[in-house]
Amino acid sequence: MAKIHKTEAEWRDSLDPETFRVTRLAGTERPFSHPGFPKSAGSFKCACCGAELFSQETKYESHCGWPAFYATKEGAPVAETRDLSHGMVRVEVHCDDCGAHLGHVFPDGPQDKTGMRYCINGVSIRFEPNEGAEG
Ligand SMILES: [Zn+2]
Repeated sequence: MAKIHKTEAEWRDSLDPETFRVTRLAGTERPFSHPGFPKSAGSFKCACCGAELFSQETKYESHCGWPAFYATKEGAPVAETRDLSHGMVRVEVHCDDCGAHLGHVFPDGPQDKTGMRYCINGVSIRFEPNEGAEG
């Protein structure tokens, strides 16, 4: 059950068009449209509601064109649903607090870690540096 309820019009007003399209209409941003998030220590938060979803520590370079993480932040409200669109069976991931579509999770992540790859749209998340972190 999502904690945050807004109408489509309310989300449209509070988000930029690309973020709205991806998070609320389950879109996908163009690959490689987010080349650079800062590499400094910090968290990635839901672009819609600000819930902490991922940590910089679990971000890795997957070369798939989208930010990739091998794990969610402990206790993060990341929920999964089976996605049968585009003739594929995939696992969609979204923010359980507000229902924002984030991306998909695939079982081809780093084997020395969790083996999972959270393939996340860059516009669905916002980077926030840790308090007092350098750079
Ligand atoms: Zn959210």
